[in-house]
Amino acid sequence: MTKSIYNLQGREFIVVGGGGYIGSHVCKMIDDNSGTPITFDNFSAGHKHAVKWGQYVDVDLRDRKATHAAFQKHKNVKTVIHLASSIEVGIGEKQPAEFYDNNVTGALNLLMAMRETDADRLIFSSTCATYGETTNMPLLETEPQNPFSVYGKTKLAIEGMIQSFHKAYGLNYVTLRYFNASGADDSGEIGEEHNPETHLIPIALEAAAGRRPRMKIFGTDYGTPDGTCIRDYIHVNDIALAHIKSEQAFDNGLSNAEVNIGTGVGISNLEILQTIERVTGKPVPYDAAPRRDGDLTQLYADGTRAKELLEFMPQHSNLENIIKTAWNFHRQKWDL
Ligand code: UDP
Repeated sequence: MTKSIYNLQGREFIVVGGGGYIGSHVCKMIDDNSGTPITFDNFSAGHKHAVKWGQYVDVDLRDRKATHAAFQKHKNVKTVIHLASSIEVGIGEKQPAEFYDNNVTGALNLLMAMRETDADRLIFSSTCATYGETTNMPLLETEPQNPFSVYGKTKLAIEGMIQSFHKAYGLNYVTLRYFNASGADDSGEIGEEHNPETHLIPIALEAAAGRRPRMKIFGTDYGTPDGTCIRDYIHVNDIALAHIKSEQAFDNGLSNAEVNIGTGVGISNLEILQTIERVTGKPVPYDAAPRRDGDLTQLYADGTRAKELLEFMPQHSNLENIIKTAWNFHRQKWDL
């Protein structure tokens, strides 16, 4: 049980994607604050075993009728948290049809279903991948959005739909543009489980655990102090916290906002590997590899708006804690 942040007693939340990495942490934090999460998930990427708080409804957002029926069964719920989407950037480039269908059609069906119920608050998971190529760091929310990837384009399309529903139908929303989600709950009972895994920290932990012989660092010739890319790693429980803070902000009268959720601290790929070696006490064997398509040199957030509008400040995101909690989760999962 984490420290109570905001009393959600008597409130239900529809958490679409509650079986996923971030969704399961959101559900736990709602429960920790005396609220009730109801997971909607098709379990294509999420896991039934990660739904430990509240019930789940097996529903695919692409199925408009089924989505309407699921929302009708919970028509008194006021706040919907939408985290479900296809996220693997490389797959999006090869299969845009599936990506747009799952992400954009799914979100439209969700928005239409919400209109037939009492739900007039939406907290939406967006991404820093909606911004264009820029060297203006830290990144402000006012930076032009011109996403490079299909993934980023689908998220930007959904941001636009939500804005239109706000204008025309009065939907209240907070769009959270996450930076790099990382770490795991202290308990180690939920964490990052993507298949296939493409993210730096879990891959480096696999290498430290000897579950892959070596890993690759994509690009060592960037114009950064150690030549590797720089990202803003935010602990998944801080991301969950941003959702609770969004609900509180709605209560305080916020009607619409786009907000970066990051730490404002840039960390290089090699710093991640060094911290993993220190925390695990094991070497992370790696090879320098060519740059990965679509990677920007550096990305880190300006957190001023999150602080002002949501009273959000990261609490769990020092790098040591991120790596420790991720390692704890993976050790339990791998029986080490
Ligand atoms: N990365 C890497 N090797 C890997 C996976 C990722 O060097 O096996 C790099 C990637 O090129 C980027 C950084 O790690 O510079 C973060 O990538 P990740 O996929 O974790 O998150 P992203 O920033 O793309 O959302």
